[in-house]
Amino acid sequence: MPWHYPTSRDTLAAKLKENSEVDRGSTILNGARCRIWTRCKQSKGYGCICVGGGKTKTAHRVAWEVEHGRHMPRGRVPDHLCRRHDCVEVRHLQDVTEAENILRGDGGSAVNAQKTECIHGHPLSGANLILRERKGGAVQRQCRECQLRMSRAAFARYYARPEVRRRLIRKMRERRNR
Ligand SMILES: [Zn+2]
Ligand SMILES: [Zn+2]
Repeated sequence: MPWHYPTSRDTLAAKLKENSEVDRGSTILNGARCRIWTRCKQSKGYGCICVGGGKTKTAHRVAWEVEHGRHMPRGRVPDHLCRRHDCVEVRHLQDVTEAENILRGDGGSAVNAQKTECIHGHPLSGANLILRERKGGAVQRQCRECQLRMSRAAFARYYARPEVRRRLIRKMRERRNR
């Protein structure tokens, strides 16, 4: 469906940005943290945005539409992977059918109903949780602390390699002799 709001896409994009804030303590999902709508909200907690002509829409739907440059097809809804109704981060929105959305509910999502700790005992929640959306909509959960440790270990392994050490030592000598 073509763009049919009286307000342009660019104006709405600016409005969305201006009236929302990144929640730094939230889970990283598809590489982004929640972006929370700071203006008026509906009874269910969805953000409200005026799209012109006296019309108001939910902010997350408009965020999805602005990002994709089109209106969401009939019978489909933007579902929050993060389960936060007032989040307008497009990477947290998944285009699903209304039936799927009802089935998922608020607590039934793949994001919520799972173990609370990683295999090393770090909490799989809040800022330590990284979520990645896979093809087909499945969500993969990762521990941020473990990821950091793994990359640090890979770094240390790299610099422990004899050829890398030799190169480093050579460079240091060259610098000293300059
Ligand atoms: Zn979110
Ligand atoms: Zn962990």
